[in-house]
Amino acid sequence: MLCQDETNREIANGGLFARDGVIEAVATTDELPQTADRVIDLSGHVLMPGLVNTHHHLYQNLTRLLPEAQDAPLFGWLQALYPVWERLSPEAFHVSAQLGLAELLLSGCTTSSDHQYIFPNGSRLDDTIAAAGETGIRFMATRGSMSVGESSGGLPPDALVEREDDILADSERLIRRYHDPAAASRLQVALAPCSPFSVSQELMRESAVLARKHGVRLHTHLAENTEDVAYSLERFGRSPGEYAEDLGWVGEDVWHAHCVQLDERDIRRFAATGTAVAHCPCSNLRLASGVAPVMAMLRAGVPVGLGVDGSSSNDGGHLLAEARQALLLQRLREGAAGCSVREMLRVATLGGARALGRADHLGALQVGYQADCAAFAVDDLWHAGAVHDPVASLLLCHSTNASYTVVGGDVLVDNGELAVLDLPGLLQRHRDMAVRLGR
Ligand code: ZN
Repeated sequence: MLCQDETNREIANGGLFARDGVIEAVATTDELPQTADRVIDLSGHVLMPGLVNTHHHLYQNLTRLLPEAQDAPLFGWLQALYPVWERLSPEAFHVSAQLGLAELLLSGCTTSSDHQYIFPNGSRLDDTIAAAGETGIRFMATRGSMSVGESSGGLPPDALVEREDDILADSERLIRRYHDPAAASRLQVALAPCSPFSVSQELMRESAVLARKHGVRLHTHLAENTEDVAYSLERFGRSPGEYAEDLGWVGEDVWHAHCVQLDERDIRRFAATGTAVAHCPCSNLRLASGVAPVMAMLRAGVPVGLGVDGSSSNDGGHLLAEARQALLLQRLREGAAGCSVREMLRVATLGGARALGRADHLGALQVGYQADCAAFAVDDLWHAGAVHDPVASLLLCHSTNASYTVVGGDVLVDNGELAVLDLPGLLQRHRDMAVRLGR
């Protein structure tokens, strides 16, 4: 059992006891209370804190690997997909969110954020929020936005951008309606103008003011690739980090996705201000954006979490596999001893909780923390022979699904099966929708 508490304990034959969704005891099995409403035998498993996903676009599950967007870098990829996304409906957002969150739960994820920045055909963030509520996962819904279309020098088509007054009004409505700041909260709202090349500086500033007025977090894409950095230098005369700082977008309440091309000065800027990064290695490779300097960020003191990113640029939402990818990539960058399994598992759990502002009650298995955990079998074919370090086998061996994923004491993946949603029915609806959408 991997605790990730203050002393970084690993307990052989360990387990936990939870009541009302909160951990009351962490100890060896013999020392734990022997009766409970539900007792789960985890012999042959590694029990660890639930994984935390800090960046996603759930609707993109419906447009996975479309041929026209399979082999393009970021800007070309977006331009190929925008016209397809224009056809999304409220139902599409609902169904794709359920599908994407099911995938995450099965990979051991207990908390996920989502970044929805398009609202075609009457869609609202409420559609995605309702879907998340039906899964039981802990959810950080971000109200994304785009306001600078092609005709004003932005990347997205004019049909997909919104008026800034409407964006701010809807942002405030969503915060008031849904944001729950409690330790046990399963639903929080953050504000997330999409990217430097799709929103105005004014909207960035006003979103930050609005978020801080309500005590909610800020999220956006930053320094994703060299084209993104060149746009920032050319249009704003500033590096991405300078641009963020000038607009009030640094601080302990901000997390930026990607930051693949963040330079040393900007890394120091983020470290000094406690600004966090959502690292999305598979997407960064798929779009050939580069390898983010994650270990340099961690050494400098930047909080880093992992994100699977949208399923049109990954195209898999398996968070444990994402952690494996992140580990292997940092070894390529830093040398074989440059990143350990345990360091990366910490990024995937506690690091993500910190990026989402929840590290005081999520990301570790310790008394008083929420009972969010995942258990992976390590006595199966995929881990055969890896008997000397079961924890390391989670990332160094093939990534498998969780046997159990528990959120606030609720068993959402039970003995390898999703205990929520009608998965076969959901798959059929999602498939029909994806076929229609791709035409
Ligand atoms: Zn993204």
